[in-house]
Amino acid sequence: MSQSPEPLLADLLSRDTQRVWASACAVIRLDDKAALDELTSHLPDIERRTEHLDLGGALFPNAEHLAQALRVLRAHRDGQCRCQPYPGYLFYNPEKEAEAGRVKILSHTPPDWHMTYSCQCSVCGTNYAVEQGEYHYTWWQWRRA
Ligand SMILES: [Zn+2]
Repeated sequence: MSQSPEPLLADLLSRDTQRVWASACAVIRLDDKAALDELTSHLPDIERRTEHLDLGGALFPNAEHLAQALRVLRAHRDGQCRCQPYPGYLFYNPEKEAEAGRVKILSHTPPDWHMTYSCQCSVCGTNYAVEQGEYHYTWWQWRRA
């Protein structure tokens, strides 16, 4: 899937909190090398324009989505595997990542609100233990195994 990076970049630089938040959430899930290359080339601008922006958030601070988007771009800039920033963020659903072919689920505990997955990155082979939990929202804590 190819995605045009221009609207994402414009939103990230806008200092409009709604647009920055929406774009950050899209960048976190972006799986398009050309688009990531383009966004990464503007990383210093993005970092400068998003600094000290109060993104709000009720149950979960929206600044965490922006922080993760910046981690994703830095990891891409540094040539790291796409999975390297997973442990920094609570919303990578292992089932969705597996559907997209980015990880393999090697095993999991019996399905429940609280359960643990054993996953392996399809690209670099890093193993992760992923704890699923529930606190107002479902979250997943990724840890290198
Ligand atoms: Zn990986």
